[in-house]
Amino acid sequence: MPLTLITRGSKHGRCNICGAVGPLTEDHTPPKGCVRPTAMMLEHAVDRLEMRKGIKAKANDGVKYRTLCSRCNNALLGGRYDPALIDFVNRVSGLLESPLLLPATVTVPAKPHLIARAVWGHMAAVGVDRYPKGPDTEMLREFFLDESLPLPRQLNFYYWLYPYRRQALIKDAGVLDMRGGNAVFWMMKFYPMAFAIWRTDSGYRSNYRDLAQYRSGRPSDVQYVMLDLHSIPHELILEAPTETQAIMYGQEAIVANGRPPLGRVLRV
Ligand SMILES: [Zn+2]
Repeated sequence: MPLTLITRGSKHGRCNICGAVGPLTEDHTPPKGCVRPTAMMLEHAVDRLEMRKGIKAKANDGVKYRTLCSRCNNALLGGRYDPALIDFVNRVSGLLESPLLLPATVTVPAKPHLIARAVWGHMAAVGVDRYPKGPDTEMLREFFLDESLPLPRQLNFYYWLYPYRRQALIKDAGVLDMRGGNAVFWMMKFYPMAFAIWRTDSGYRSNYRDLAQYRSGRPSDVQYVMLDLHSIPHELILEAPTETQAIMYGQEAIVANGRPPLGRVLRV
């Protein structure tokens, strides 16, 4: 399968989340408010890891996908779920910038049901014309559209501290681990958090914190979410394989690095 960096499909088409056909709108992934939209250089994760020259693409104000209908993008993702994600990552950023000596594990007030929907929604926006998601398509669509539904028992919503500037958006990657089992996952990394969505029946064993632990309660409830500050996974975890792993990539796997401003540097 050729590696591509296509982020904008046609202006009219099928929404990646709800499947409705109509005008499509652009989604910032990760959302504005979590990261400041800035000039980025995009590369396919495989090219980046293997240090080979592949396709590169410029993005002038962050990574955007034109793949969602206005209702999913603006009313639900931007209007309802993103504020919870933005509040959470801003609180974590505040902790990292704090001059206080922080304990190994802290609790952060958050709305995990809404954060899980925001993370899933932005990952669903990745990739042009990607509405069908396999046997779980309908379940995931209903989960996103109806916030009264509980977090799906089929999924883990892992999260961990990611104190790095490089961004990664990786969809349909697979990990085969001699010790941990295997799984297909979606993953989004941006300062200061990483999130990964897995099927619970994958058999993969991991020690990550999981938003699904906070399945009880209502979507608007503030819950105290545990976050480990001292044991931080490597920047390239689940991108570059460890000695016991093989990692396979699907079509959508983009890493984005800050791009220096174009033009000659003026010296005075
Ligand atoms: Zn939609």
